[in-house]
Order: sequence, then structure tokens, then C-alpha cells
Amino acid sequence: MGERWELGDELGSGAIARVVRVFDRLSAAHYAAKLLHPRHERDATAMLRFRREAELSSRLVHDNLVRVWGTDTIAGHTALVMELVEGPTLAHVLARGGPFDEGRLLEVAAGLAAGLAYAHGCGVIHRDLKPANVLMGERGPKIADFGMARASSFAEADRGALTVLGTPPYMAPECLDPLAVDPRTDLYALGCILHELATGAPPFTGPTPFAVLEAHRTAAIPRLPEGFSEGTRRLVASLMAKAAGDRPQSAGAVLHAIAALRDPDASSTGTALALPSAPEIAAGRCAGCGGEILTDVRVCFRCGLVPVMLEPGRQSVVVLGPGRASDKLDSERRDRLVQWLTANARVGFGTARLEQKIPRLPFVLVRRVSAASAQSMVASLARLGIDAEATDAPMQHPMMRAHVRRMAARGFTLSAAIVLAPGLVYMPLAIMLAPLVGVAALVSYAVSRGTAGRTTVGTSQAPHPSLPAGLGRRLGVLPGVVARIEQRRHREALGAVVRRVLVLTRSCDPDSAAATAPELEHAINLAGVAAGRMDDIERSMAERLFDPAHAEHRALMHERDTWAARLLELTATLDALTARVIAARSRVELGRTDDALAPLRAQVEALEEVSRA
Ligand code: ADP
Ligand code: MG
Repeated sequence: MGERWELGDELGSGAIARVVRVFDRLSAAHYAAKLLHPRHERDATAMLRFRREAELSSRLVHDNLVRVWGTDTIAGHTALVMELVEGPTLAHVLARGGPFDEGRLLEVAAGLAAGLAYAHGCGVIHRDLKPANVLMGERGPKIADFGMARASSFAEADRGALTVLGTPPYMAPECLDPLAVDPRTDLYALGCILHELATGAPPFTGPTPFAVLEAHRTAAIPRLPEGFSEGTRRLVASLMAKAAGDRPQSAGAVLHAIAALRDPDASSTGTALALPSAPEIAAGRCAGCGGEILTDVRVCFRCGLVPVMLEPGRQSVVVLGPGRASDKLDSERRDRLVQWLTANARVGFGTARLEQKIPRLPFVLVRRVSAASAQSMVASLARLGIDAEATDAPMQHPMMRAHVRRMAARGFTLSAAIVLAPGLVYMPLAIMLAPLVGVAALVSYAVSRGTAGRTTVGTSQAPHPSLPAGLGRRLGVLPGVVARIEQRRHREALGAVVRRVLVLTRSCDPDSAAATAPELEHAINLAGVAAGRMDDIERSMAERLFDPAHAEHRALMHERDTWAARLLELTATLDALTARVIAARSRVELGRTDDALAPLRAQVEALEEVSRA
């Protein structure tokens, strides 16, 4: 038999391969074949990637994914044989036709989300989603190029799974840490693509790839133009959330949200995306990292700092520096302090006096707070570059005494000069007025002391509805749990669960909140165990240099995978539950509708099983 494949024209070309049209004489049908560029054929890494692409993508059969049939030898080269898609890439469409309107954007978004939901469901993460890797077929978009894909389970993955890769304009902040990459990384890329479809440019650009990655990590999330509906703008922004826990938790959830946006009438039954943004659970901003602080939680999940609180007590916080006694606090630090106090207004600070006048050092910042409150305040001030001390007797502090003495002396010199000036003219007058100088001394001392000791920041606390007792206690132990977790993203994963629990509890009526509390309490407990365990496992992996050939390493990675997957499912389940509550608006009696709670129970039980295993 002659050669089975007849080579046709080139369809496109990427970094490591080119794709050509081929005709299969056996089936008399056209296909697309991906051939490694000749320079890569002897490159072991490229070859390995090629094999992995064939292996991972040939299990995926979905309308929104380019169908891959497997590998064959074509004209003496190893080739990946796939379905031929006649349409252009999404990148071409965008370059030629310009930005999309909302209807077209949502249509493409739905196709991509459906393809991702399927691939993720099969345990495959794409890792290089971008317009050039999407083909626009007759029946919607098709995701191509699984050349960088990996199994979502690390136990199944090879070493390649631990390399940093992707295309900078679409790379989520966590991409620099391969262990942190999960299906939500693809959702971030989807957000970037949608932003590009709406505006013509990806969300972040920069002179170097590094600058672009840095922007993904730190720059503010751009919003879609005003012409787009609020729902679409929120969806796209949420996909681009910096922390994976703040994004929609699954492509399936995104698909639901898109369906609701495309057909608002059909969305009344809990299909809306429950975006984790509920202002009533945000207490303020962390002094250490600027991250969000939740009400009722005494720890910042991002940096681990214990945020300020204000409980009544007997202590004061005195600001001592930087600077010498009687110097003014430097104005840049004053501004930083005002900014932070303003961001934490809910904690109960008033900043009017600090804004009017820059105080001299040292000064009393707050009074009559508990020792714990004072300590938390001192820790936060340290992060702002301000030295402070908690004390029972602020006026006894040596620096304060020195300051008061100096200010009193200044006041005294001045008043003495005024009082004694007439004596220069007529001496006996000076003798008569001499006792007044003593009075002036006392007065200036009292005034100086009063000024130095005046509290700079007013405090008043708004009453805050209490949580069910058990839940409150569970939240109370979180600082200890968080302190033991070294890696930020594991703390954030726990934070994502806690945040959702608070949103959910605050969205229900008190009876339902009480009824769900035991389940939620348990969920937080297990999420803490999961986050801690993943942190431990990854630390030991880092020490031993993960080797997939090592059975013990694989077993540990498998355990880590299981925790990660369950935790993700729990987070997603909480979202779905919250979506139901929010969609129902009418404060459903959540606790009594068992079917509403069933998925949550199932997730909590699944987590429990992992912890027993
Ligand atoms: P690389 O891994 O080198 O980026 P891709 O799989 O992305 O390779 O393919 C490169 C280009 O080839 C795509 O951008 C697209 O233009 C074209 N292409 C890829 N797959 C197909 C296909 N199945 N049908 C038609 N064109 C394709
Ligand atoms: Mg490509």
C-alpha cells in the first residue's frame, strides 16, 4: 500500500509545531495534522510534550474541544492527527473584526466554558488558553492545542507538570508556582480572553513578559467598558480575581452564570453566580498586606497578621516613633495611618483629629482598650512603619515624660518672659509678679500634659449582629490554625471557605443560620485540616524534590490531590448554596429544606473521609 496520508497546505504554525491539512486515503476524509518543527524532533522535552498532548487530548470528546484521534507517522514524522476545523482562530477573528458586542462575547464565552467544564471534568487542565488556541468552527468555538495541558491530579502528572509555562498575557498570578495551578487557572485565562474580546486588548500589557506577569499579580483588575451589562462586567472581573478562591470555582458555575446573563428570565432558580462580594462581611483592610479582613475573624488569611479589634479595657496605645520626643510624626506616615484607619472605619476609628493636625511624638493613639486590642494595634502599626507600645499608664512612659517636660519648659519660658517683661522697666514690679511665674510653670505643665495625653483617634463601635455560638467559637480558633500554615495560598484556600460561610450565614435569616451552623462549623474545621495538611505535604515535597517515579512521593501527592479536589468542591458547593439563597431573595428557610443542604453535607462527609483515610 502506498502512503496513507496526503499532505496539504499549512493551516497554522505555533512555537513548536506546524499544523497542515492532510487527506486520509483510507477513509477519504480530510484531517489536520500537527507536526513538530524539524528542529524539535530530537528535543526530548518537545517530544514528551507532544506525547502528552496526544495522550491527554485523545480522551476528550466534546463539541467545544478540537477532537484528537491520536498519533501516526506522516511522511516519516510523528504527527498528531485531529479533526480539521475550517474556521479561523479567535485571534484572527478579533484582529480582523475588532471587539465583540455583548451577545457574541457571551456566546463564545459559553462555548469556551462548556469545553473547559468538560476537560476539567476529565481531569485535564489546559494551561495555555488564549485566542490563538481557539478555533472558530461553524458551531462555535473549539479549544485546541493541549500541548501544555497536564492532568489536574499531580499523582498522575509527570515532571513537566512542575514547570512554569503559559503565555504571559493570559497567565494567572499563581502560574509562577506550578503546584498552585488548578482548573481555576484556566478560568483566569478565560477572563483575560473575554476582556480582550470586549476591548480588543488583553487586560495587562507591558514592555517585558515579566512586567506583564507582575501586572497580573498586583495591578488593579480592569473593568469592561460601561456599555456592557453589570452582570457581564462582574463575571469577567471575577474570573480575573487575583486569588483563585475569589473566582468562580468551576467552569460549570461560569456556564450557569453565562446562561443567566443570556436569559435573565430563566435565571430565577439559583443559577446566578454568587459572587463572593458581600460588603457586610468585610471589616476592613489588613495593615500588613492591604488584604480584606472579615468580620468575626481575627486573622488575615493572606499574610497571617492578626488585625486590629477594639474591645474595651484598660490599656492605651502610645505612638513613639520613628523620631525623637517632641518631633512631629513624619507626614507620609501620618497619611498612611489615616488611610489605614479610614479603611478600617468599621472597626470603629475616627480620624478627624489626625487629619487636621500632625501630632508630636509621643502621643496617645487610643485609650481604654483591652490588652489584646492594644497588642493587635501595635502589630498593625509596626507594619505601617510606626513604633508604638501598649501600656496601662501612657503618661508614665519615659519618652512621654521627657516630651511633657520639654513642652512645659517651652511654655514656661514664654509665659515667664511675658510676666517678667514689665520688670525690665521697673524692678519692684518684677518682684511683685514673681509668684505668677510659679503659676505659669504649673499651668504650662498641665497644658503640655493635657495636649500630649489627648487621644488622637476617637473610637466608637457599631453594633454587629452576632453569629450562632458554635460558629463564632470555630472562627475564634482560626488565628491558631492559620499561624501554622506557611504558604499563603493554603491560608487563602481556607479563607475562601470561611468567607463563603460568612456570606451564607449573613444572607440567611437567624433561624436558618442557626440550623446550618453545625454543618458550616464542621466545614470550616475540615477546611482548616485540609489546608494544613496540603501545606505539610508540599513542604515535605519541596524538601525531598518531588520525584514522580518514587512510590511514596506519588502517594503523598495523591493525598494532596484528594484534599485539594475536595476543598475545591466544598468551596463550589458553598457558592451554589449561596447562589440559591441570594436568588431566592425572600430569605428561604434554608435549614429546613433538606435538599438544599444535602450537597453541602455530602461535601463535608467527603472531606471527613479523606481525613480518616
Ligand atoms: P502550537 O502548539 O505550536 O501552538 P497549535 O496546536 O496551537 O500549535 O496549532 C497552531 C495553529 O494551527 C493554530 O493557531 C491554528 O491556526 C492551526 N490549527 C491547529 N489545529 C487546527 C485544526 N484542528 N484545524 C485547523 N487549524 C488548526
Ligand atoms: Mg498554540
